[in-house]
Amino acid sequence: MEKIIIIGSGPAAWSAAIYAARGSLSPLVIEGQYSEVNQTRGTLPMGQLTQTMEIENYPGFPSGKIHDYIESAIPTDRVAILPPNEPEQRTILGAELVELIRSQAVFFGTRVVSDEIIDVDFNGKTLKLVGIDGNLYESQTVIIATGASVKYLGLKSEQLYKNRGVSACATCDGALPRFRNNEVAVIGGGNTALEEAIHLANFASKVHLIHRRDKFRASQILVNRLPEYPKIKVHFNYVPTEILGTQEKGVTGIKLAGTAGNTDLELPLAGIFVAIGHIPNTDFLKDNIELNEDGTIKRPIPFCSNTSAKGVFVAGDVADSRYRQAVVAAAGGCMAALDAEKFLAEN
Ligand SMILES: Cc1cc2nc3c(=O)[nH]c(=O)nc-3n(C[C@H](O)[C@H](O)[C@H](O)COP(=O)(O)OP(=O)(O)OC[C@H]3O[C@@H](n4cnc5c(N)ncnc54)[C@H](O)[C@@H]3O)c2cc1C
Repeated sequence: MEKIIIIGSGPAAWSAAIYAARGSLSPLVIEGQYSEVNQTRGTLPMGQLTQTMEIENYPGFPSGKIHDYIESAIPTDRVAILPPNEPEQRTILGAELVELIRSQAVFFGTRVVSDEIIDVDFNGKTLKLVGIDGNLYESQTVIIATGASVKYLGLKSEQLYKNRGVSACATCDGALPRFRNNEVAVIGGGNTALEEAIHLANFASKVHLIHRRDKFRASQILVNRLPEYPKIKVHFNYVPTEILGTQEKGVTGIKLAGTAGNTDLELPLAGIFVAIGHIPNTDFLKDNIELNEDGTIKRPIPFCSNTSAKGVFVAGDVADSRYRQAVVAAAGGCMAALDAEKFLAEN
């Protein structure tokens, strides 16, 4: 019987583990598994940060060459799985950042298993988790930090230019030199797409907002704000069919097909932001926990990490459809570990 099990392997999980380990709770982290399915879904161990390159907005890492520090702080076998250090790298990579947080958790005594939880039973006093190969885990508390998966368009060309002009996060990447004073596109018609377009209007010379229907799904307040941003040009009734680019430059444009008899279009672009949604990773929870309408885990007590199940806490993007940032996920991990520690003390 464990005191605390943390499911996940992004900044939320490892930050929760740091706090739990330093609180002498000897946490066990179940970090997910390397598999083709997880590769396709974008849920490989170490989370979403491994899908991007430089992280410029996580506090504590100003621009500079930090590779020597990383090599000294991370065990050699883990350095070997990091992306190669590129000469033009300006600051920490996402994969390096999450690896540093993991190392800190392990340094304080966190135990890690490579397993994927596929079923849970939160009905009894003992919380039960089942791994993909049938292993059973029992614990007094559980922290769910399984993150979310980005929905991509599914185009072959999109895969080719990820991190080379194709991004799934304007808040994260919009200020990068590649996009500044250049034309970019946002694909989508919900709140996230409109918010991203408005955010990008601060940096780009023009923002093409491309939506497959003739009306936005976003809230009317956001839709009403669009005319305040003359840099945003809306293209209704278009779907992307190909992302154009070169080996040298990355993204150079996009081909769009009209969905309502309108003529196909080709736009020259420096960047494409896919904003068609996120899927919180909650399949394994089945009916054991209450979810919000958008699929995130419900937190019944404001500003706390409690869930609808006793002894089960939540952190990171799996419960967050608003901020979706590494620093917020890490903060959520801290909150969940402190809440779990308090629960253990009181029960
Ligand atoms: C392309 C891209 C660029 C980004 N850039 C930035 C940026 O510049 N700055 C920033 O702050 N944020 C950025 N983000 C957002 C940031 O990555 C996320 O907010 C953050 O990673 C969320 O952390 P998390 O711990 O909640 O979960 P995640 O990072 O989503 O990790 C969760 C992990 O848990 C594991 N898991 C899932 N289900 C199970 C299971 N059933 N059993 C065991 N393990 C499981 C999986 O390995 C999964 O990957 C970016 C995201 C993307 C996609």
